[in-house]
Order: sequence, then structure tokens, then C-alpha cells
Amino acid sequence: MGYPFEEKKPDDGMEWLGDDPLGLEEKEVLLLFQCLDCKKTDDVPEFIVGEFSVDLKEGEEVELHCPPHCNGTMIEARNAPPSY
Ligand SMILES: [Zn+2]
Repeated sequence: MGYPFEEKKPDDGMEWLGDDPLGLEEKEVLLLFQCLDCKKTDDVPEFIVGEFSVDLKEGEEVELHCPPHCNGTMIEARNAPPSY
């Protein structure tokens, strides 16, 4: 009398782990920041900007530092075209 199913072995399994079961990897939104001092630009993930914006008052801009370039102030370059 045999069971109708075989014992499953996770040999080639683990695929169910690889497909983002928790939805943590939502598509990443990058915001363009530009340094006020050295004019370099950087793509910053939106969630990081969101964390910084927690401490802001209304109407304030998120300001990031500009490592490793000049340690200046970077703000979101909403309308500025990227300048390289
Ligand atoms: Zn800079």
C-alpha cells in the first residue's frame, strides 16, 4: 500500500523564497538629488528620503549630505535636469 504522493524533498525548492513572498522588494523609486555646492547629482531611494522627511516641518525640503564629494548639502532636484 503506497501513498499517492512522494515525499517531497526541497532539492530544487527554495524558489518560493526567491519570489519576494513578503512583498519587500517593491519597485524602487529613485529621486534625483543635487548638491548645492559641487553640483553633483545622486539617485536616492525614495524610502530613504521618506525617513529623512519624518523630522521635517511642513514645507521643508529634505536635505542630504554629499559624501564623498564635498560634504555639502544636497536637495531634491525636482526640475533640474541632471548635469554631469
Ligand atoms: Zn557636493
